Amino acid sequence: MSAVEPLPGEEVALAAGLGRVLAETVESPLDVPPFDSSAMDGYAVVAGPAAELEVRGESRAGRPAREAARPGVAVAISTGAPVPEGADAVVPVERTEAAGDSRVRVGESRPGANIRRAGEDLRRGQGVLVAGAELGPAELGVLSSLGRDRALCARRPRLALLVTGDELAEPGEPLEPGQIYSSNSAALAGQAAQAGAEVTLRAKVPDERDSTRAALAAALDSADVVLVSGGVSVGPHDHVKPALAALGVYERFWGVALKPGKPTWFGTRDSKLVFGLPGNPVSAMVCFQLFARPALRALQGGEPAARRTTARLVTPWKVNPGRTEAVRCRLRPDGAGLLAEPTGDQGSHRLSSMLGADGLALVGPGEEELPAGTDVTVELL
Ligand code: AMP
Ligand code: MG
Repeated sequence: MSAVEPLPGEEVALAAGLGRVLAETVESPLDVPPFDSSAMDGYAVVAGPAAELEVRGESRAGRPAREAARPGVAVAISTGAPVPEGADAVVPVERTEAAGDSRVRVGESRPGANIRRAGEDLRRGQGVLVAGAELGPAELGVLSSLGRDRALCARRPRLALLVTGDELAEPGEPLEPGQIYSSNSAALAGQAAQAGAEVTLRAKVPDERDSTRAALAAALDSADVVLVSGGVSVGPHDHVKPALAALGVYERFWGVALKPGKPTWFGTRDSKLVFGLPGNPVSAMVCFQLFARPALRALQGGEPAARRTTARLVTPWKVNPGRTEAVRCRLRPDGAGLLAEPTGDQGSHRLSSMLGADGLALVGPGEEELPAGTDVTVELL
């Protein structure tokens, strides 16, 4: 996190703002709602006991009445219409009765009844949103209620995604002997998009020194963040680390006490971030979630931490002696709490274990088996 320098802001049209991170503090420039309005269809009156009144004029939504209410005179009114001058209550139509031409009998009313006051939702000058807020449907709606059609948002991080491996075939191509389909490209691109990044470069790189270096050089030139999967171990065909070193990327760490994800690599060149993720598909996704995602959020000035909760293990769990384990779990409610049920075999090559996973149970290292019912921390996906 200390390597992250937040990106500058840019004006964004709200129509394209979903998921963006706000880079400004927003105060309401007006009262919302802007005027006193009726919460019901009925009659605007001077509050008082039940009475028979003359009806003069009508206030409709978007079309205020010209007439005023006064003792003995009511104005017909619709939900959302401005409360006419003189009125301080609305009697809902259900509590009225027609009483001949232009006359109505209304039930008793108290001052303020069925009136929504100007500024009841937001007052002019009131703080509404702070920088770092993510624009979800509610934020977009509230900004619109202030009359805003644009907002200053952090620029989306540009992300280059490289997958390495001579064994990789692109989905859609036929599989040759010894090949597997590259699943990391699609899975990591999806995670990157959900974290707010813009994937500006995607490439498949053979296990060969010069191509690896050329691909990484192009990625570093064009992106804020480089994700490279595979090739970060110490096999004779793992070229990523020496290529990054040759390109001036400074190693911040290599190797984490995490299962899956042990060979994870992280480095920087100036403000550019480079993540070397393990090739195994589950490891790549887990390490994206725990390392790359927080960085992408922080680059946008957003909250880096994903939400976590506590849940009880459904089955006993054999703890790893040396590493924290990220166990893919489904969550379901149980009484006052949540139950965490592992999605099946946790092999780091078994990508189907990510299907339906609600979260990663983070089980710290230890010597003993955790019995069913033990509380574990779960990072929500
Ligand atoms: P590596 O980290 O390059 O040693 O790769 C570890 C394992 O992950 C190997 O079994 C690779 O075949 C597999 N792998 C590497 N890249 C991908 C990818 N893009 N999609 C699916 N599996 C991969
Ligand atoms: Mg490889």
